[in-house]
Amino acid sequence: MCWTTNISSRERGGAIAADSGRDGIPAVDAGGMTFSGLGEWLGGLGLPPWRTGQIFGWIHRRLSGGFLDMSDLPSALRSSLSDAAYIWSPEPALRADSPDGASKFVFPLRDGLSVESVLLPVPGRITACLSSQVGCRVGCAFCMTGRTGFRRNLSAGEIAGQFNALRRLSGGRVTNVVYMGMGEPLLNVQAVLDSLTIITDPRGAGIGTRHVTVSTVGVPEGMAKLAAHPGQAGLAVSLHSAVQATRDRLIPAARRWGLREVRKAAIGYSSAKNRPVTFEFCLLDGINDSPDEARALGDFTRGVWCKINLIPCNDVEGTGFSRPPERRMKAFLDILTEMGREATVRKSLGSSAGGACGQLGASLGSEAPRE
Ligand code: SF4
Repeated sequence: MCWTTNISSRERGGAIAADSGRDGIPAVDAGGMTFSGLGEWLGGLGLPPWRTGQIFGWIHRRLSGGFLDMSDLPSALRSSLSDAAYIWSPEPALRADSPDGASKFVFPLRDGLSVESVLLPVPGRITACLSSQVGCRVGCAFCMTGRTGFRRNLSAGEIAGQFNALRRLSGGRVTNVVYMGMGEPLLNVQAVLDSLTIITDPRGAGIGTRHVTVSTVGVPEGMAKLAAHPGQAGLAVSLHSAVQATRDRLIPAARRWGLREVRKAAIGYSSAKNRPVTFEFCLLDGINDSPDEARALGDFTRGVWCKINLIPCNDVEGTGFSRPPERRMKAFLDILTEMGREATVRKSLGSSAGGACGQLGASLGSEAPRE
């Protein structure tokens, strides 16, 4: 690369050398840069610091899909930036709407793969559910994404780009964000943290960090990194069983992280952020819905500042799992309540659109070889 530092030349629109990717398409995604990263990049091109706020605002507040739209930049500069970088700003290739109001979108990625994201409206808020990976290597037994295998991590720009696309598609009404789509966010932790920095930046979308939740099966190292990250993002740990043998069966990759380690990291998170951790527990008929499982969960959460969400299993074709009968779920909840735990049975939105928890990934089909 050969960048000149002649600012006046830049502002007049002197040519900016592009870091070309394949086929002459720029390799740099400006939408994946944090404010400071964008500032460094633009500074390296010889542009003054005040351009950073202008361009960051265009991408993340005005949802511009390209430099050529940035009408208050000199036209030659727009062309030069457009040659040097791109902004991943996808249109959905597919959309599926569920009668409960949830909508699932399939967004094409630049390498021919695709990623799925969901809009989940409930009264008073609209939540964007973002994916962090194409596929997933954790392999939860009840999850469609886990069964499709792992293709690759998403970049910060591909995560922030989903968020911006969902904001556009919702008419700018997204109020909350959950990292609960395809993939295990804390196995792609740097890109997730960068995207979190981008979407919560008040100079862009400015979503309050308390309105963001990162979901994990319990990757202690990633939980510690998230705990050290600025802001108050919530943490949801998909536990699914507090009995090690059951958990190992349901979440094969989580064998690496024992329940004791997960519990310790959860306590570390709640004390660092001064807010409770949420434990997600997908109830599966005859698998983890027994009174013994409920008591084990009650024991596991003793002394942990937390809330427990019990989520009746969604139907995912071919998994062989099903939702427990109401009376078993009630008995499970009653045991937790008697043990003094704050537990709720949650409804999972989007199941008829294939956009509910555990159902993403159908679009992956056989697009590319799995890792
Ligand atoms: S539930 Fe989440 S972590 Fe488990 S396989 Fe599916 S996407 Fe991966």
